[in-house]
Amino acid sequence: MQTIKAAVCRAFGEPLLIEEVQLAAPSTGEVEVTLEAVAICHSDISYADGAWGGFLPAVYGHEAAGVISAVGDAAGGFKVGDPVVVTLIRACGTCPSCAGGKPTICETPYDTVKGPLKTGDGDPLEQAMACGAFAEKVVVNHRQIVKIPETLPKDLASLLSCGVITGVGAAVNAAGLRPGQDVVVIGAGGVGLNAIQGARIAGARRIVAVDMTEEKLEIAKEFGATHGVLASLDQPWKAAYKALGGRGADAVLITVGAIPAYDQAPRYLGLGGKAIMIGMPHSGDMASYEPVVLAALGQGVVGSKMGDVVIQRDIPWMVDLYQQGRLKLDELISGRWSLDQINEAIADTKTGSAKRNVILFDRT
Ligand SMILES: [Zn+2]
Ligand SMILES: [Zn+2]
Repeated sequence: MQTIKAAVCRAFGEPLLIEEVQLAAPSTGEVEVTLEAVAICHSDISYADGAWGGFLPAVYGHEAAGVISAVGDAAGGFKVGDPVVVTLIRACGTCPSCAGGKPTICETPYDTVKGPLKTGDGDPLEQAMACGAFAEKVVVNHRQIVKIPETLPKDLASLLSCGVITGVGAAVNAAGLRPGQDVVVIGAGGVGLNAIQGARIAGARRIVAVDMTEEKLEIAKEFGATHGVLASLDQPWKAAYKALGGRGADAVLITVGAIPAYDQAPRYLGLGGKAIMIGMPHSGDMASYEPVVLAALGQGVVGSKMGDVVIQRDIPWMVDLYQQGRLKLDELISGRWSLDQINEAIADTKTGSAKRNVILFDRT
């Protein structure tokens, strides 16, 4: 056990508390990563607000990058000193989902309360999302990490572990977009902007961004949207049809948690189109759709977790895209903060105007 500093949630809806906590050494198959950057994702905020329940106290944080500082046995060939991205995708590698190429829906449970974290007093402390990355160090399974080039700044790299893979993966893997198809992306936030650039990379013909403000629609265009539609319009899908030359979209990517977006999404679809649910509404929230329309028009509604990515395949690809100037990362970061400022960074993210806020651990 060693003592590290972490931001701990002890009560839902209350500010996180910076505490000294205990971290176990990596066991078989695990590595310890000393973090340099962790981004704040809306999932962290939903957890901390109690939207999905879960054990308390807990350490959230799951979009991280750093350098390996210790390895357990059979740690997948990783070495101390390797720069890596840390993801929440803890996949066993052998269950039917993993073996079938869908590690994001691994069937082997992992008990995050019995993970490597304990409170300063030695009491149970949840390693939320199998990461617990609002902390100076994490101990994770080697299948959750991917080696990255030394030259890739860690603040940019951290974005690859959730927001970027979820958005780009939704366009490429989940929607399976082909060149020339038309896409609507609902929400131009951290994931939505990446869904937009994923659609651009996939060769989409027209990409319509839907969001609440003109400002966000302008940002969406910088990431590849060809048109913008205000979600506040009475029937925003009609404006999207206009942008798409009078027809519906081949795919609608829903990247927000707000239920009206789920209710409306099928309305944007053309014949044979698919709505991909990527956002994470609160538990118990329900959406509705008209089955006869989906059946008659051959449409589909499907969920996608973490962009259906295979991190060992997709993250190196996205690193190359970035280095070739084909994927934007720098432009996704709207603020850099220290761990001590995490509650301010979360408050800024909650305003909805931020893209990604990143905690840097070398800041005091
Ligand atoms: Zn996330
Ligand atoms: Zn598995």
